[in-house]
Amino acid sequence: VSLARRLPKIELHAHLNGSIRRSTLKELALAAGLNARESQIIRGDARTVSEMFAVFDVIHHAVRGGKTIRRIAREVLEDAEADGVVYLELRTTPRAHTECGLDQVGYVESVLQGFKDYEETAQRDRRCFARLILSIDRRDPAEVAEATVDLALRYRDRGVVGIDLSGDPTKGRWETWLGPLTRARESGLKITLHAGEVPDVDEETRRMIAFKPDRFGHLCFLSSENQSSLWASGIPIELCLTSNVLTCSSTIPTYAAHHFALHHGRGHPVALCTDDCAVFGSSLSNECAIAIAAFSLSADDLRAITRRSLHMSFLDPSSHDFAQILTRLEAGEEM
Ligand code: IMP
Repeated sequence: VSLARRLPKIELHAHLNGSIRRSTLKELALAAGLNARESQIIRGDARTVSEMFAVFDVIHHAVRGGKTIRRIAREVLEDAEADGVVYLELRTTPRAHTECGLDQVGYVESVLQGFKDYEETAQRDRRCFARLILSIDRRDPAEVAEATVDLALRYRDRGVVGIDLSGDPTKGRWETWLGPLTRARESGLKITLHAGEVPDVDEETRRMIAFKPDRFGHLCFLSSENQSSLWASGIPIELCLTSNVLTCSSTIPTYAAHHFALHHGRGHPVALCTDDCAVFGSSLSNECAIAIAAFSLSADDLRAITRRSLHMSFLDPSSHDFAQILTRLEAGEEM
């Protein structure tokens, strides 16, 4: 892990609630009075897609209120900094916590306040820069997706850079989100789509590729036809090794069998990401160390992937922050 730990890293695919600090989750779960089964669920690492969503139900039950959202956002950044992440694009689904008087606007405000809290205490030379992506949950109807796009536009000047489509991959239909996603893109927001997380979704994936999002997440299941159009499109992919090996074990039984090798070997742009470091029990350093071992990567390979990841990010390349991050990557700074 040590080389992977020391190198500056870029994280592009991390869900806020899936990245909650484990000690905080334990504390909140106790306070929420979770029963034995629920406590059991959050103790282990998720192994299947349905287990993963069971963990999220428990986390969402335990994480309530603006103060808590603000706290976990700050802690996610602190933990990322400690892991050597210099830029984090965090994503979350704005949810109302009605019983605490928190609406979707308050939810986004709380996350951004957590970012601010972190920035106030971060050491200048180690600071992890952060941006926010708002997620549309696949269970959401079109009106909710439209409201999420409105929220992203409203907070665009305060750190929101794009829209993600995620949630249970067996739910919902692509046509539901096409309108809101098109409007988001026309308004200048970047788009990333979870795709190919379960078998038999080739037609949906085909339509998603035709939409030309700025990035894809996962693509564990990809027909050869879709693979050809993906490669022709050049659309980058966020790859989450441990998450995929655990939840897609039927097609990805080992790290060595992961499609990272296929895409990276061909020169297609890929980023190494965690997905949900709390749920799957693996930090970005750990994911990088796994990639080094499984695909015989050198330190320079990893540096090149990281630099490319920054160029895949939704950060404005003409911004001061982008320049600062690039300088830190190019210094090859070892922490
Ligand atoms: P949140 O949006 O911050 O609450 O993060 C947790 C949510 O992210 C989950 O409820 C899912 O909707 C989504 N999510 C996290 N990991 C995955 C994944 O691997 N596939 C699809 N959706 C995911």
